[in-house]
Amino acid sequence: MPKTAPWNSRKQTIHHNNTNCNTGNNIEKENYQTGTGGKPLCNECSKLNAVGK
Ligand SMILES: [Zn+2]
Repeated sequence: MPKTAPWNSRKQTIHHNNTNCNTGNNIEKENYQTGTGGKPLCNECSKLNAVGK
């Protein structure tokens, strides 16, 4: 299951929850934080989740 606990970047206005998301995987270590940050889900993650990837 690539869908996992949410994480986000301090520099982004969205959060991620799919480990196949390129945007989510490109977050720099110093900007990485766990949780949604109260931000909406990223479109790419949403699409990946919808197709079960
Ligand atoms: Zn994402």
